[in-house]
Amino acid sequence: MSIAHQKRISILGATGSIGQSTLDLIGRNRNKFKVVALTAHSKVEELAAAAIAFSAELAVIGDEARLDELTRRLEGTGVEAAAGETALIEAAQRPADIVMAAIVGAAGLKPTLAAVRCGTTIALANKECLVCAGDLMTKEVQACGATLLPVDSEHNAIYQVFDFEQSKAVDRLILTASGGPFLGRAKNSLAGVTPAQAVAHPNWDMGAKISVDSATMMNKGLEVIEAYHLFPVDKDKIDVLVHPQSVIHSMVEYQDGSVLAQLGSPDMRTPIAYSLAWPERMEAPVQKLSLAEIGSLTFEEPDYEAFRCLALAKEALFAGGAAPAILNAANEVAVEAFLGGQVGFLDIGALVEETLAKCDMKAPQSLTNVFEIDGEARRMATSLLPAFRK
Ligand code: NAD
Ligand code: MG
Repeated sequence: MSIAHQKRISILGATGSIGQSTLDLIGRNRNKFKVVALTAHSKVEELAAAAIAFSAELAVIGDEARLDELTRRLEGTGVEAAAGETALIEAAQRPADIVMAAIVGAAGLKPTLAAVRCGTTIALANKECLVCAGDLMTKEVQACGATLLPVDSEHNAIYQVFDFEQSKAVDRLILTASGGPFLGRAKNSLAGVTPAQAVAHPNWDMGAKISVDSATMMNKGLEVIEAYHLFPVDKDKIDVLVHPQSVIHSMVEYQDGSVLAQLGSPDMRTPIAYSLAWPERMEAPVQKLSLAEIGSLTFEEPDYEAFRCLALAKEALFAGGAAPAILNAANEVAVEAFLGGQVGFLDIGALVEETLAKCDMKAPQSLTNVFEIDGEARRMATSLLPAFRK
């Protein structure tokens, strides 16, 4: 492929699990991609190494205190160094054919939205942006002619089998869930589980926050909200089905009874490769699916009592307004406190529930409102933390 046909790509959150898998694929297909900008929050060494290895134009570190170190590491390499929120936004706006949005949490909202406003193609891993500002984001996508390609494996699966021209014929989206490391456990047995146990996901290797979200099943709840914003279906048409093998990544049921699914080994490089190559396809170094070896696939209903977070997220979707943003912010505070050993596992759901009950805010009309809601919910959740402290 000639240089003129190389896809220009930027990665927001290049040092994370999704960011690194994206770079792994680019590394195997160097002739197809030109890396434009790479960003990270605090891992300067990894960011500089990737920027040099991939001859990026620009490397941005979120934490401004680390700019000197980044500049020093990039001296003489030809890679520009920058830091801070404005620089993150500039990185997202650098002309590119595709922007991988892989920052974790609401922190990814501003840069992702900046890329959307450039009308480019966004490979969206950062689900929290759609949870806290889904309506605003999708409006901007429409207005700016941007394309959102879902990287989250469930949504990527649905995207591959969803007939957008016949969306009225869709009866149901069925989001599959592995159930996480605590599948089958009763609620009262979960009080003492540790962060190390919670991040040890049976099927997927992911960042710490999403791993805890998978253990509480908040991840599936966030994904129900994400699905609502990505696909033209009613809120009550999105179901969750526990499927511990994570082979069927999700399904779409049509009115004639046909159920279409996408299957594959649980490796994020498949949905990432789909997004990078779209509308074509490319090779991904993933284990090919051997159904004969797997033997059987199993399914069960989720346990909404043990995994209260899943129920709370669904309630937040139906409540609408500020509820999803409050849910997301409280969850981010709670997960950080759990990972820091300050609160127990079941306190995550309890803290989110109490924050939702106490933060009564109007539906966001603007991005500024979203950040007000996010900030207020974080303050509320933080102020409630001492009551939960271990
Ligand atoms: P991670 O924690 O491994 O990486 C997060 C990245 O975001 C890092 O590069 C970090 O430097 C950057 N970052 C963190 N806080 C930031 C801030 N305040 N400002 C700027 N940058 C910041 O996370 P991950 O597992 O790669 O997940 C990234 C996103 O993708 C999340 O929204 C997650 O829900 C979603 N996702 C991940 C997976 C997976 O397999 N890891 C699957 C589906 C969806
Ligand atoms: Mg997922």
